[in-house]
Amino acid sequence: MSSVPTPVTPKPPRTRERVLVILQEQCKECGLCIEFCPKKVLCFTDIYNRKGYHPVTACDIDACVNCEFCERICPDMAIFLAGREEAKKAYKAGALEEGTVIPEFEAKPAERKEKSK
Ligand code: SF4
Ligand code: SF4
Repeated sequence: MSSVPTPVTPKPPRTRERVLVILQEQCKECGLCIEFCPKKVLCFTDIYNRKGYHPVTACDIDACVNCEFCERICPDMAIFLAGREEAKKAYKAGALEEGTVIPEFEAKPAERKEKSK
């Protein structure tokens, strides 16, 4: 049975329920998430992780629509969506493992299209 893709409506970051989390130490630079992200959110960094790969980051996090394509396609479980409140708590407490990036929290307020409260 063929399935018709459900249209996804972009929402401003403040109203999205989940935030993108990237485990840069687990990324193997395969590029699948970059290729399949429908909103061209993702790109490679120029840093190296411990495995010698350039890990992924979000170059346009405001465009993310929480579609989960990246999470589903990553063979290394290096990118996923997490509950906003839980992620914010861990981020603020400095309780994230080394190499964990939550682009939405890290963008400077002046660079953001919509400021979070
Ligand atoms: S959830 Fe992942 S694939 Fe979907 S728009 Fe956001 S970064 Fe792109
Ligand atoms: S799909 Fe996973 S391993 Fe591949 S580039 Fe993206 S985050 Fe890295």
